[in-house]
Amino acid sequence: MSEHRIGHYISGQINYGESDRTQPVHNPATGQVSGEVCLASPVDVDSAVAAAAAAFDSWADTPPIRRARVLFKFLELLNARKDDLARAIVAEHGKVFTDAQGEVARGIDIVEFACGIPQLLKGDYTEQVSRGIDNWTMRQPLGVVAGITPFNFPAMVPMWMFPVALAAGNTFILKPSPLDPSVSLMMADLLKQAGLPDGVFNVVQGDKTAVDALIDHTEVRALSFVGSTPIANTIYQRGAANGKRVQALGGAKNHLVVMPDADMDKTVDALIGAAYGSAGERCMAISVAVMVGDVADELVPRIAERARELKIKNGENLDAEMGPIVTRQAHERISGYIAKGVEEGAELVVDGRDFDASSVGEGCENGFWMGGTLFDHVTPDMTIYKEEIFGPVLACVRVPDIATAIQLINDHEFGNGVSCFTESGNVAREFGRRIQVGMVGINVPIPVPMSWHGFGGWKRSLFGDMHAYGEEGVRFYTKQKSIMQRWSQTIDTGAEFAMPTSK
Ligand code: NAD
Repeated sequence: MSEHRIGHYISGQINYGESDRTQPVHNPATGQVSGEVCLASPVDVDSAVAAAAAAFDSWADTPPIRRARVLFKFLELLNARKDDLARAIVAEHGKVFTDAQGEVARGIDIVEFACGIPQLLKGDYTEQVSRGIDNWTMRQPLGVVAGITPFNFPAMVPMWMFPVALAAGNTFILKPSPLDPSVSLMMADLLKQAGLPDGVFNVVQGDKTAVDALIDHTEVRALSFVGSTPIANTIYQRGAANGKRVQALGGAKNHLVVMPDADMDKTVDALIGAAYGSAGERCMAISVAVMVGDVADELVPRIAERARELKIKNGENLDAEMGPIVTRQAHERISGYIAKGVEEGAELVVDGRDFDASSVGEGCENGFWMGGTLFDHVTPDMTIYKEEIFGPVLACVRVPDIATAIQLINDHEFGNGVSCFTESGNVAREFGRRIQVGMVGINVPIPVPMSWHGFGGWKRSLFGDMHAYGEEGVRFYTKQKSIMQRWSQTIDTGAEFAMPTSK
């Protein structure tokens, strides 16, 4: 067993649980095992839920402004420690340090939003809906809620969830990815330092066993899930069947449409960053470039040149543009997709499998390294077009016009993000209106909405009704109550047998 054990966090304490199941944690840059994460049993999940349930009444009774003050303090601590969090992400995920800093910054945005909870929870009120009767609505927390998060944003995606859930008065259980679990405990520690009462925020490390126990637990009122589509779909169905509120965000295949009038220099920059940044392991990464007219003849050679020149290094280096793939298994999966693309007839312009790991530097020879891959002449029937690869692979599809581009995208099963590069306001406007995708960028390659707008895809990229964070997040983590009240003694209507109406 490794010396570095990564445990659960229950009732304000690190806890190694009753289960002796563990899983090694790797540094993807070196391939070395850096720790051992505990995998919770149903009994461990029960303890976390019991802690969260015990803490609920008191936290829900805490005035929203006081809950917000805890979050303000958390924000201050996060800002002071943000580079430590980013370093922990680099060490277990492999993404480059500047990208990890960006991830933490986008999580901090949500904490800032959640600090406004007194305003966000303000209800509405109507005086005199009938004589002597007033009616108002208010929003109340759900109880114990859980978040199940993916490996690719170990700080930001949990922060899409818990700041809003806690601000709204819920108690929370986070089940992070076992691939990069350490940052969850750092956030738990900062919340404690900020004055969050024990039991309000808990972490259970684990795999399917922990997730199943959360989905089936009667005390867990709502589940927020972010991860791949098949699991999102299962969690949505099983959670809903168990009577829970569920939002389950799934996978993606994001297209970037290049119109012939686009600024080609900016488009090349956008494609390179959005396809290969974070080694393509982003749910908003661009994995398909839709080249309209003859733009591919100019763009494909320019993208190929830049893809070959990517600075692929250990993410600790400040000038690194792309780090390693998260695991050896993911590396094999991506390599398999590249082979499939060749087999199905796509033109392989740059092959990331050729990347020489020994060029990265000493100690990194056994890391999970791969270069950027570029395919041209990809068609919609090919596996590399249809499925999410989740790696540094860009597929170029050639289409004759914008109408065909829009139809192509609307026919895809995923609908997370999309982008259109053009200098035409009319094309941009029509694209924004007609595209069947939840998050749209016009000359913006990765249009991740700001914290007060909410994040969510369409089609098989999101199961559920509400997007993450923003006002949709507040609605997800609260239930509405309407109160109608009469104090006036002046009106005596006697017994009423007809449906009451305004008098
Ligand atoms: P994943 O689906 O493998 O895992 C996500 C979470 O589910 C993890 O906590 C994992 O431990 C748990 N899990 C894994 N297998 C499970 C099972 N059989 N039953 C129950 N729980 C299980 O996803 P990942 O590889 O960690 O992350 C990458 C995926 O997440 C990609 O598909 C990506 O598009 C997606 N993603 C989507 C968004 C979005 O906002 N739509 C954001 C980030 C990532």
